[in-house]
Amino acid sequence: MRSRVFEIIDKEQERQQNNVELIASENFVSEDVLRAVGSCLTNKYSEGYPTTRTSGNKGRYYGGCEVVNELEEYCCDMWRQAFHTDYHVNVQPHSGSNANLAAYMSILQPGDTILSMSLSNGGHLTHGSPVNFSGKLYRMAFYDVDEHGFIDYDAMEKLARQLRPQLILAGASAYSRVIHFDRIAAIAAEVGAYFMVDMAHIAGLVAAGDHPSPFGLADIITTTTHKTLRGPRGGLIFCKPELAKKVDSAIFPGTQGGPLEHVIAGKAVAAEEACRPEYAEYIHAVVRNCKAMCDEFLHMGYKVVTGGTDNHLFLLDLTDTGITGKAVQDELDRHGITLNKNCVPGDTRSPQQTSGVRIGTAAMTTRGYTEADFRAVAHRIDAVIQELRAAL
Ligand SMILES: *Cc1c(COP(=O)(O)O)cnc(C)c1O
Repeated sequence: MRSRVFEIIDKEQERQQNNVELIASENFVSEDVLRAVGSCLTNKYSEGYPTTRTSGNKGRYYGGCEVVNELEEYCCDMWRQAFHTDYHVNVQPHSGSNANLAAYMSILQPGDTILSMSLSNGGHLTHGSPVNFSGKLYRMAFYDVDEHGFIDYDAMEKLARQLRPQLILAGASAYSRVIHFDRIAAIAAEVGAYFMVDMAHIAGLVAAGDHPSPFGLADIITTTTHKTLRGPRGGLIFCKPELAKKVDSAIFPGTQGGPLEHVIAGKAVAAEEACRPEYAEYIHAVVRNCKAMCDEFLHMGYKVVTGGTDNHLFLLDLTDTGITGKAVQDELDRHGITLNKNCVPGDTRSPQQTSGVRIGTAAMTTRGYTEADFRAVAHRIDAVIQELRAAL
């Protein structure tokens, strides 16, 4: 008898095929990634690390790990190749949030101070939200964006001098501009703080050379593998070699048990893909498409946070339209267009309502959308917003 689960999966597949997917953190993985994640590797327990990886580590705790050792070594090598780096890498984090938890634990004590970008300005939950472990375990301070929506590096520098944080964190979930890692690294060096970059959203752009690289500047770099990197859901931590032991033990035994070797296999396939020239071409198209769609909204008279985009996403600021982000998200759902409501800097509406929406081009570019397709979608979204306004 066929499991009911596969009927449900078929429905989701149909939804994914028929909708225009504009959620900036989503993508469509290759058949090879799917096959790797659905493989027999899910059966294997392999707590620990291949002995060759970090000097002095105790190896795996179970027998029968020869094959997964080979897999994990290969996965690490391929990710280093994808980012042209000799940093140490840990491929075991189950998610981006787990990667951040372990990264903090590897270099901080509870109560230490982290200076990061607040959720309301485009940061992530794990960057110190009071409802998240990060906000509960650490003393958080936040840098802001200026009145145009750009990171205010001068204000960040002042704050850093005042607070002397143990860690300065760069990276965001809803920031459409280049992040100047060199500037932040200099601030961190001046105040004696560790510098960490969470490149979850822009990692694909870093790999393709479409965003400045944090390698060589940051002490620790975390990322997800499922956003612009187009791999399975999961996380990675890169670090300078001197932090390798601390990072590895913060993942296991610090915060996780057995690694998900089937997901690590999917990550390895994604890394192979990210090393190919076609992948860089794909990312260039994502960025080009994003500019085209953003420009179309600007031409139609919409307000965009920072007035444009340098990457794979942008934020429509709907404040002047009187329509909430939630209303637009819900109505677009009924029209087969999927995106998410998002606060804009200085938003007066709650995170449940919001005055903006976030739009990303990574997923539909995978599906083959061109600039013309994205411009057409911009007009479909405009039509829905006009209807909502007419009904006010
Ligand atoms: C998506 C994201 C994460 C967390 O990823 P999960 O895999 O959902 O835990 C962490 N940091 C940033 C900046 C993100 O955008």
